[in-house]
This record gives sequence, structure tokens and C-alpha cells, in this order.
Amino acid sequence: MIPSAFDYARPENLQDAFALLAEHGDEAKLIAGGHSLLPMMKLRLATPSILIDISRIDGLAGIDATRDGLKLGALVTHAALAASEQVRKLAPALADAAAQIGDTQVRNRGTLGGACAHGDPAADYPAVLLALGARLRIAKKGGETVKEADDFFRGMFETALEGDAILTEIALGPAPHSAYVKFPHPASHYAVVGVAAKLELQGAKIASARVAITGVGDSAFRAKSVEKALSGVDAGDAAAIRSACIDAAAGIEARSDVFASGSYRAAMAAVYAARAVTAAAIR
Ligand SMILES: Cc1cc2nc3c(=O)[nH]c(=O)nc-3n(C[C@H](O)[C@H](O)[C@H](O)COP(=O)(O)OP(=O)(O)OC[C@H]3O[C@@H](n4cnc5c(N)ncnc54)[C@H](O)[C@@H]3O)c2cc1C
Repeated sequence: MIPSAFDYARPENLQDAFALLAEHGDEAKLIAGGHSLLPMMKLRLATPSILIDISRIDGLAGIDATRDGLKLGALVTHAALAASEQVRKLAPALADAAAQIGDTQVRNRGTLGGACAHGDPAADYPAVLLALGARLRIAKKGGETVKEADDFFRGMFETALEGDAILTEIALGPAPHSAYVKFPHPASHYAVVGVAAKLELQGAKIASARVAITGVGDSAFRAKSVEKALSGVDAGDAAAIRSACIDAAAGIEARSDVFASGSYRAAMAAVYAARAVTAAAIR
């Protein structure tokens, strides 16, 4: 459980970080909170020869409420998101997820950007960002691009980020009727199944819904048939919501491991989807 030897650099700004990335190429790894990368290094699943520590770069740890929603720096910690009144008000699903990640140590060090960049199939945030329609700002030496969450999470530990890119900001529109619920693994707290829902309500009815699921497939995914089935459903009708959520994992090859079989995960996806929608509706 001892990583292989590595050098360490702590750039003070993005330009210096890009220069280090260009100098060291594939040998380099960015480190933010270190709570996914360091365990991988201890297992020698990652053996970078240099770590580029971006955790003290200025301007990447803000939580800003704007007219259009929230702008969140990539270095915002899970603990800061969980504690933020603005996040709780404008995007409660994100606060729900942040508060349920790991334990206190993980939440104090781990970052939103690091969790998204890592692309773990059981991570909590990808479901939330998909349901909330987040936009992720990616900086490179030559400029910036913005990706929709739908285009960012691509597979198991696979995202739209290239090796020389740094995720700098995540932007979300207001989503007051949103919630995230999960069935946590009892040891790690990662999602065995986690579901985020965002609703637009028209009176007592669900006008439109976005529902996304993590922990079940190779990557978080939108449950589009559920989203369609929820349209027009009475937001207080628990049986109708359960019925709309029944095929939540349809078309997904659900992962099996020693803790939960694929068919169990798929069954729980339906249960937790209904819970997430119900929780979002009463906010
Ligand atoms: C005991 C334990 C329990 C956990 N439980 C949960 C849980 O319940 N739910 C959950 O979702 N997660 C869980 N995690 C993971 C945790 O949330 C991590 O903090 C997170 O996945 C990674 O964030 P980080 O800042 O620590 O990233 P790091 O570990 O520093 O980096 C992770 C990866 O992302 C890259 N990276 C980091 N920041 C950026 C950036 N801004 N731009 C581009 N690339 C970047 C790094 O190069 C590395 O490849 C757990 C971790 C531990 C150790």
C-alpha cells in the first residue's frame, strides 16, 4: 500500500499548471483532494512520476449564486457544498449528494471537480449533474470549452477530459424541485444505486422531469423512459410515480459485484427513482 516514487509540484495558477502538464505529458497527474487518486496510487493502479497539485490555485473554489443559477469552482469541497445555504436553496439535489459522500475526512478534502474528472461508475455527482443539466467548463492551454453533462460522462472512469485539460467550473440552472437519494454501500458509502431527479411542476402536475441514475451501469445515465412517463403525472400520486419509474434501468447492463447482483441493482433503481421523484416533488 505504498505508492511508487513521484515528484510533486504546486503551481499557483492555471498557466503554470498547463506548462507543467505540457512538460510532463502522460507521466503527470493532477491532484485536487487526493481522495480518489491517492488510493489508486497506493494500489499502484496509477503510477504518475509527478503530481501537479492544483488545490491552491486561486479562484477555483467559489460557490456563486447568479441570476441563472449556480457557478461552482472545481475545487469546491463536498463539505462546502453540503453546508451551503445557496446550494441547498437552488440545487438541493447537489447538497443531498455532497452530504452523503464518504465520511467527514473525504468530504473535507474531496472536490466536486475531482469527483467529476475521476468518472467512477458509483460516484454520486454524475447523476446529479445529468439530472440538473449541468455545464462543465474545461480549460486547456489554448482556450476553454463548455460541455453539457450529457456529453461529459462517457463510461467507466472515462470522461470528455483530455490529459492536458483542467475542469475549472460547473454551472447549474436553478433546480428547487430536485433531490438525490441513494442506497449507499455500507463500507465505502459509494452508491450501490443513486438517483437524482429534477422536476418542473405545473400546479399539482409534473410538467417535465429529468432523472439520472448512478451505481448501476458503467457510467451514470439518464432514465429517459422514466422522464417521459412522468410527464403529466400528479406529483402527489405515489402509485403513479412508482409505476412511471418501474423501468428505470431499462436497456442498461447492470453491473454485478459481491455486494449486489445486476438484477438487484436494476430493481433498486426503480425503487430509488420513485423515492427521488417523490422527494423532489415535495420541495
Ligand atoms: C473512503 C472513501 C469513501 C468515498 N465515498 C464516496 C462516496 O460515497 N461517493 C462518491 O461519489 N465518492 C466517494 N469517494 C470519492 C471522493 O468523493 C473523492 O473526493 C472524489 O472522487 C475525487 O475528488 P478529489 O478532489 O479527491 O480528486 P483527486 O483524487 O485529487 O483526483 C481524482 C482524479 O481526477 C483528476 N482531477 C482532479 N481534479 C481535476 C480537475 N479540476 N480537472 C481535471 N482533472 C482533475 C485527477 O488527476 C485524478 O485523476 C470516496 C473516497 C474515499 C477515499
